[in-house]
Parts: sequence; C-alpha cells; structure tokens
Amino acid sequence: TRTPVTVTVTGAAGQIGYALLFRIASGHLLGADVPVRLRLLEIPQAVKAAEGTAMELDDCAFPLLSGIDIFDDAVRAFEGTNVALLVGARPRTKGMERGDLLEANGGIFKPQGEAINAGAADDVKVLVVGNPANTNALIAQQHAPDVPAERFTAMTRLDHNRALAQLSKKAGASVADIRRMTIWGNHSATQYPDLFHAEIAGRNAAETVNDQGWLENEFIPTVAKRGAAIIEARGASSAASAASAAIDHVHTWVNGTADGDWTSMAVVSDGSYGVPEGLISSFPVTTADGEWEIVQGLEIDDFSRARIDASVAELSEEREAVRKLGLI
Ligand code: NDP
Repeated sequence: TRTPVTVTVTGAAGQIGYALLFRIASGHLLGADVPVRLRLLEIPQAVKAAEGTAMELDDCAFPLLSGIDIFDDAVRAFEGTNVALLVGARPRTKGMERGDLLEANGGIFKPQGEAINAGAADDVKVLVVGNPANTNALIAQQHAPDVPAERFTAMTRLDHNRALAQLSKKAGASVADIRRMTIWGNHSATQYPDLFHAEIAGRNAAETVNDQGWLENEFIPTVAKRGAAIIEARGASSAASAASAAIDHVHTWVNGTADGDWTSMAVVSDGSYGVPEGLISSFPVTTADGEWEIVQGLEIDDFSRARIDASVAELSEEREAVRKLGLI
C-alpha cells in the first residue's frame, strides 16, 4: 500500500472546512488510490468544533483516511505536510479598513509561512483560500524562504468555475465542451474573466457568443460578484462551491491539465503579461508532474489589457500596504 499523503487544513471547523474535509478523505483531492492523513489547525476556541467534525469523519469509515490530528499550534500542524490548504482567515467585519484586514491576516499568515518553512515536507504545495487570498499567500510565501516560491498559490478556481457555468448557460453548451477559460488578476471584484481565449467545442467563445454587451455588462460582473449574490440568496457565503474549487485546484496541480486545455491559478509572477514580478496573480496555467507553468504568447487586446492592469494594480497596492505594515 502507498504511504499516506499528509494534508493540513486550517480553519477546519469553518463552513468551507466542513464541505472540504469529507471530499479530501473520500479521495477526491489526490485520487481514489491515495491514502491521506489529515492535520487540522484551528484557533483554540474552535478546536472542540473541529473535534466534532473529526468524529463525523471517523463515522464515514473512509478507507483512504489513515488518521486525523487536531492542533491549535501552526508549527505542529504543518509538520511533514505535503499539501497545505490555508482556509482559515480573519473575515472583514463592519467598519474594518483594508489596512486593518491586512494586518489581522498578516498575524495569521506570517506564522503559518514560518511554520511551513520549518516543518513541511520538501514537496509541500500550498493553496490559500482565506481572503484576501492572493496577498495572504504572498505574506506566507515571504516567510518561507527555504520553500520554492512557486509552491505558494491562491485560489481563483472558483471564479474560473463560475465563469465556465455562466458561459455554458449563455451558449447552451456543456461545461465539458469549454476549454481555455482564464481568470486574470486578484480574487476580488476587480478580477477579469477572459472569454477571448476561451473555446466552446474548439471555436472561439467570444466570437461564438458574439454579444459584447452581455460580456461586459452581465458576464464579467456576474462572475466577479457571484459571492455576494450567493450570500443574498442563501443567507450564508458560498462554502460547498469554494471547497469544490479547492479540490479542483489541488487535483489539477497534482494530476495535470488536459492536452490543449489550461486552468486558472494565482501564482507568483515572473513578469509575464506585464504583471510585476513577485505578485501572486491569477494567470492561465498548464500543469504537469506537479508543477505549473504560465501559458505564454497569448495576444491581449486593449479591452483585456485595461482590465488585467486594473486588477494587477490592486494587487500592487495590497503588496505596498503589507510592506508598509512590515508584514513582508
Ligand atoms: P469560511 O469557511 O466560510 O471561509 C473561510 C475563508 O475562505 C474566509 O476568509 C473566506 O473569505 C474565504 N473564501 C474564499 N473564497 C470564498 C468563497 N468563494 N466563498 C466563501 N468564502 C470564501 O469561514 P468560517 O468563518 O465559517 O470559518 C473560518 C474558520 O477559520 C473558523 O472556524 C475560524 O476559527 C478559523 N480560523 C482559523 C485560523 C487558524 O487556523 N489559524 C485563523 C483564523 C480563522 P471571505 O470571508 O472574505 O468570504
């Protein structure tokens, strides 16, 4: 039998954690033949709730689940971690300025980066889900100097999946027929879902839809504001879809993108497409053998350029803000 892969989940007792852990334990994260050992991190007040979730995980009798340990200490939670899912974060509360939010999250992601640096496995892969995800990932990465920077990623896969769903509805096509969707920039309202390189059954998506009004006034804002629409409808934020996207992100990273297709991941920029080096920004990426690569050579027209630049400018401002706070 294979040695278990160690997966650490932070914020394990939260809404996303509750939707995520059962799918990890049932084999959807890494594959139906890969045993997993879970290490859960929570703040002390939430450890008891995490223990309750662990009891339910036991009760599912998942054949692939080879152990669960619960911690309120990041150093121990990341010992030997192969896959780290950083879900727990400080949510924005009423009256909170962006600086306050970044500072509160710096207090979480700096020690977590240090703990990953100190104790994670050599092959560790990190996905940050907790918001502001791109900048939280940057903070953690900056405090893990011994871990290759490309191992720190942030999630835009939910935005990507939302874009697939909206396009599939508009075009009357199956999501399985859509390839080469891209989310550019920050996981925020400034993100840019790009249909100009997407394809439906091999034909250009923007040309197939042929409706610039829909693209500008419905598609882009619907994808970018979907989170708020879910809160409005459900009375709670999206949790199962966020968990599902986290599963997709890691699964694709580990198992590779299909030939001729790509995915969206926020990864450290090498300067591609004019995105300043070092920012963790969403790009079209292919993956193979557990490594990602930014898709090169796409033509970017003026419409797309302006939107990518706006989202990337926001990321630069966030990086400046965390620099000023001494968080990186
Ligand atoms: P959720 O599980 O619903 O969300 C967790 C994080 O994911 C939030 O930052 C949230 O950002 C973010 N997120 C990213 N994408 C999405 C999306 N599409 N939809 C919804 N959320 C998204 O939060 P809960 O409050 O239920 O749970 C958080 C848990 O984390 C708590 O149990 C808390 O104790 C724990 N925690 C643990 C820490 C640790 O382990 N050190 C540190 C801090 C908290 P947003 O709020 O902006 O939507």
